[in-house]
Amino acid sequence: MRFKTKAVHLGQEKDPAYGATIPPIYLSSTYTHENLGKHKGYEYCRSGNPTRASLEGLIAGLEQADYGLAFASGMAAAQSIFSLLDDKSHVILSQDVYGGTYRLVSQLLPSQGIECSLVDTTDITAIMGAIKNNTKLILIETPTNPLLKIMDIKAIKKAVGSKILLVVDNTFATPYYQTPLKDGADIVFHSSTKYLSGHSDVVGGLVVVNDKEIYEKLKFIQNTTGAVPSPFDCYLTIRGIKTLPLRMEAHSSNAQMIADYLKQNPKSEIVYYPGYSGIVSFRIKGGLAQSKKFLESLKLFSLAESLGGVESLASLPAKMTHATFSQEQRNTLGITENLIRLSVGIEDIKDLISDIKQALSRAS
Ligand SMILES: *Cc1c(COP(=O)(O)O)cnc(C)c1O
Repeated sequence: MRFKTKAVHLGQEKDPAYGATIPPIYLSSTYTHENLGKHKGYEYCRSGNPTRASLEGLIAGLEQADYGLAFASGMAAAQSIFSLLDDKSHVILSQDVYGGTYRLVSQLLPSQGIECSLVDTTDITAIMGAIKNNTKLILIETPTNPLLKIMDIKAIKKAVGSKILLVVDNTFATPYYQTPLKDGADIVFHSSTKYLSGHSDVVGGLVVVNDKEIYEKLKFIQNTTGAVPSPFDCYLTIRGIKTLPLRMEAHSSNAQMIADYLKQNPKSEIVYYPGYSGIVSFRIKGGLAQSKKFLESLKLFSLAESLGGVESLASLPAKMTHATFSQEQRNTLGITENLIRLSVGIEDIKDLISDIKQALSRAS
């Protein structure tokens, strides 16, 4: 099956009880055994649930992975991945990694004996320079947030070798544009809160791997720590994924047109867009006052964090998603007060551009 067909059909076997075309949501927390030691594969919902298993099979299929696992959030997925490590491990993190991942690694993991280095992972020499004897894992995002820098997953894996786990957060690209396991990543995870569910109404995380041993360890961690998604959230995510290819094409084509528009508008200084997916960042001419005026003048774009939903959102990373970073860190990352991030939705492009146009003219 090709991608679009998989998105609609994987894990959606017809219901054997009544022939329901859309499989029912299995809400039951427990499963009745036929007799002692005999059941149909499910015993208790934290350990396994048919609706969750459908979602896990679906994401594995889309990422061309052998195994998938679903978690209660992207951060629960990340925490489970770090739980694979022994204490006294060292990890390398992209310096512009998602703020929540940075908080986890910098504030929670040190007490578990795991230390981290923040590195510009677009630079392979910098990665190699940061590797220590106890480096066990490197985590990257590509494209990055909010400057949409791109990394060469194959080259990074080749440089760091097989002893260091390469983890890729694939939230921004989605498997529609990028399947990092094929490029040598060992573990891929998602905040399915974003593009995969796609309608800003679910919080969830997904992990895919090919290695059976890593899968079994993660499955053990998933069951042991219990950060599992509800069956209803799994159902909403499956439903969202059915239209992932259509939405990603619409997000990308709208985002490309907005990037082109911003490039020729003299009120924007510089535009960042990698050519796919729906996030566009730009620097408005001026500073905080102009950013504030622009964001408050938008009518269609909501001033909000998060991304990946069908509706368009705008944010000011310096004061929102990256507000907890120090001024110094923000300077290093180029997150200035005139840097605006747009999560471009699937509305009519003419309406989106006229909204940006009127807000830009008010801002100057
Ligand atoms: C949102 C996000 C996360 C965290 O996921 P949650 O579902 O909010 O826990 C991780 N990585 C990226 C790139 C994100 O955008």
